[in-house]
Amino acid sequence: MKMHFLSSINPLRRLSLCALSAMAAFAMGQVIAQSPLGPGVGYTNTPVLPNSQWRVHDKHRPRPTIVKAGDAVGQAPSDATILFDGKDLSEWKKAGSKDDAAPWKVGDGYFEAVGGSGSIVTRKEFGDMQLHIEWSAPEVVKGKSQERGNSGVIIMGRYEIQILDSYDNDTYADGQAGSIYGQFPPQVNVTKAPGQWNAYDIIFEAPRFDGETLLKPARATVFHNGVLVQNAKELIGPMAHQEIAKYKAHPSKGHLLLQDHGNSTRFRNVWARRLREEIDPWLVMPGAADATLPGKGKKIVLISGDEEYRSEESMPMLAKILSEQHGYDCVVLFSINPETHTVDPNYQNNIPGLHHLDDADGMIMCLRFRSLPDWQMAHFEKFVNEGKPFVALRTSTHPFNFPGDSKSPFKKWAFNSKEWEGGFGQQIIGETWHSHHGNHGSQATRGVIVDAAKASPILKGVSDVFGPSDVYGVVHLPNTANVLLQGQILKGMNPTDPPLEGAKNSPMMPLAWTKDYQMPGGKTGKLFCTTMGAANDLLCEDLRRLVVNATYWMTGLEAKIPEKASVKVSDQYQPNNFGFKPQKFFTEQLIRPIDLVK
Ligand code: MG
Repeated sequence: MKMHFLSSINPLRRLSLCALSAMAAFAMGQVIAQSPLGPGVGYTNTPVLPNSQWRVHDKHRPRPTIVKAGDAVGQAPSDATILFDGKDLSEWKKAGSKDDAAPWKVGDGYFEAVGGSGSIVTRKEFGDMQLHIEWSAPEVVKGKSQERGNSGVIIMGRYEIQILDSYDNDTYADGQAGSIYGQFPPQVNVTKAPGQWNAYDIIFEAPRFDGETLLKPARATVFHNGVLVQNAKELIGPMAHQEIAKYKAHPSKGHLLLQDHGNSTRFRNVWARRLREEIDPWLVMPGAADATLPGKGKKIVLISGDEEYRSEESMPMLAKILSEQHGYDCVVLFSINPETHTVDPNYQNNIPGLHHLDDADGMIMCLRFRSLPDWQMAHFEKFVNEGKPFVALRTSTHPFNFPGDSKSPFKKWAFNSKEWEGGFGQQIIGETWHSHHGNHGSQATRGVIVDAAKASPILKGVSDVFGPSDVYGVVHLPNTANVLLQGQILKGMNPTDPPLEGAKNSPMMPLAWTKDYQMPGGKTGKLFCTTMGAANDLLCEDLRRLVVNATYWMTGLEAKIPEKASVKVSDQYQPNNFGFKPQKFFTEQLIRPIDLVK
């Protein structure tokens, strides 16, 4: 993965600093409502902290999520993943198997390694983590050195914190209990006698790779029975015996493994927490350094948040084009689930970072049926009241949907509003949700340039617009709108399929337009909208160019729109097809914004 953070700052440092912000704990309304320090309390005029996007006492800095601590030290807090609840090994499976049950023995409140049965791994995968695990060596002492009470906590299946009966048992120092096996002995030996319970509290940071290159080694901090035995040690590589293993690039998450080393080691009270510091609630993608790029000095906020058309995949891709190839400073926002702090477009009530709109020069939105808290909507409202320009893609004709019992002053912005007919979509963009005009999923769309619009600079270098999403019904668009493209329904899903015959294509529906807008009491602004914009629509080069050209247009760079704007996209941009995803797609994958940069 290529990094995109402020060029003047070491990208990794930048990552971790952004991460401090993360927590995504901007969170949902009810959490904030519990906090006396909700948004609104803090400063906007204090100095910016070094290497940070935050000011001292920044009012926008996300508040830490409220977590309920365990009743006693060592007990799992409310946000932990419980890996053993004292009853069964359902969170585990046999290592190396697809789905075989963990072959170890479960006793009264503990489980026990069965020598020779094989190691076990968690079903879930972890990257950066906090781990609590308690273990005891067999009460009946057998063997010596590495043969006695040997097991191991092998994080990501690669990095071992040794478990050994190190009570009155000589062995090489880097193989004792609490050692990072084969690398670093524990600072002290605090192992309890065989049969007694030991506790490990481990903080592990996974290594970072860029392709095959190691950017940052793994790091581990270990407390053994509450005593620090490894202090932020940088690992030399994965666990190895009698040799020095080298790092080899691997995924950012892996299964936690408990080692079968032939001894009946017991375990209890196992829980893990993802390190919240690894999660950024939004992406900051500064413009490329080249001062000749037209977008230099202009800030675009791209807002994803739709359940169906994978805008969480398309917006980072567009931001990468705009920042790297055109110089714009981009920020990409996502729907963040406050429970998992990860990207979850099915979660309609939280888009952290909308304050980035306050000093933005333009916005690109792909929203669907959001119901955001008032304090988040306030930034959106300020933006449009000031008449700032924006680009709206696909479902953005129906960006908001407040429940019937909502007390929000923004309720009238809902797509089905009667009070402000058709809400923000119809009143401002020109249309609300009306219909699928082409058959959804079986009739693709071709963009046909309107004769009268041929000279529009937004259409420079745009001739071949195709997308697998269907043509939307558009019936409310005022005639003051300037239609650039009409949507031709194709008979099938391929670019070579012929147009559908008959009335549905005669006349065709507006597919892309520009128009002026004005919020009640606000300043006049301008917008570009296209009802195309599924993440896989944007595999079409000319559709990407249309959006890039529209970005130039909205930011006052109309005269600088290239004859054929660069819209190169990485081969790794392979978006999911449109369609709704089951909730577990997001809660199991735990997608971070940074994971979506391709
Ligand atoms: Mg071991």
